[in-house]
Amino acid sequence: MIQVTKTYLPQADDFHQYTTEIMNSCTITNHGKMVQTLTSRLEAYLGVKNLLLVSNGTLALQVAYKLLGLRGEVITTPFSFVATTSSLVWEGLTPVFADIDEQSFNMDPKEILKKITPKTSAIVPVHVFGNPCEYEAIEAIAKKHHLKVIYDAAHCFDVQHEQASILNQGDISMISFHATKIFHTIEGGALIIQDDQLYEQAKKMINFGICGEGNIECLGINAKMNEFQAAMGLSILDDIQANIQKRKRIHELYDQAFEKIEGITTQTKMKNTKYNYAYYPIVVEDTIRFHQILTALKQQNYHPRRYFYPALNTIDYLPYEEMPNAEYLAQRILCLPLYDSLEHEDVKNMISIIQSVV
Ligand SMILES: *Cc1c(COP(=O)(O)O)cnc(C)c1O
Repeated sequence: MIQVTKTYLPQADDFHQYTTEIMNSCTITNHGKMVQTLTSRLEAYLGVKNLLLVSNGTLALQVAYKLLGLRGEVITTPFSFVATTSSLVWEGLTPVFADIDEQSFNMDPKEILKKITPKTSAIVPVHVFGNPCEYEAIEAIAKKHHLKVIYDAAHCFDVQHEQASILNQGDISMISFHATKIFHTIEGGALIIQDDQLYEQAKKMINFGICGEGNIECLGINAKMNEFQAAMGLSILDDIQANIQKRKRIHELYDQAFEKIEGITTQTKMKNTKYNYAYYPIVVEDTIRFHQILTALKQQNYHPRRYFYPALNTIDYLPYEEMPNAEYLAQRILCLPLYDSLEHEDVKNMISIIQSVV
């Protein structure tokens, strides 16, 4: 069975070397050597500073909102994984949706402008599937209206725009290291915090607000990454370049095929982007054909995913407001299988199944 992705696992020996070291040291969590090493290696690899490892990406978002003292309304996208919205609601904030651009799949800055009220405290955009948002326009809006910007950059491992990491945008960016993402620590994530003082504050916040023995400095939570998670990250970081290259080949095969198929479009990437080939979404204009394609692929044991479906403005626990572009896309999008060890034979098979339906 071919799924949309397959978790990348390291060579057992590589992982065991790290875990043996952890067991010998007897420090298995609380900012141990593995977490420290992974932090500095990731900062160097990604080209960022003030990177803080945490136990998962959703907590990274929640910590970011607390750190920036958000209140009231937060403008965000209806086209994302549910965690972008649910983390806001969980923190007692009110998500206000701004519709997306149909081509880039990202929030449209013009729509953001329409949603600003005196209660707005921040914007939470998503670089959907690792495609950079129009961050310059978003920054200009935020400056003018005194809003914070937190990027959900969950998909953006190793994504650059104009030769700089996209993770340096906004007041804070977060990334997810969940097992389904291209770089992972089983569960995990990180915050990239532009302001040095906020970064120091965040370190305390993810450890119950404790700073030194007997000193509780601020309100905190437990969001620490443990040593075994960091060991997983370290043992696959060495392989990441090769992994991305293999994905690139598959991405190219899909690209060549879908250029020529009528009625199917793909995501328009921002110019001058170094992409990480994390996802391959296709949009099937005709919804009947969409379901025919999905059924035909499943019959042959290929399981693409409807990322992202449903649109988040249709979630039951939120008031509904129409978002035409996000709802249009959510009804028509399929992410095709894409991972390093996917056989080219299977890619070609999937392409011909789709061609035969169309
Ligand atoms: C995966 C993901 C998250 C959540 O990250 P976890 O590490 O799974 O908690 C948030 N936003 C988006 C867009 C994601 O894809």
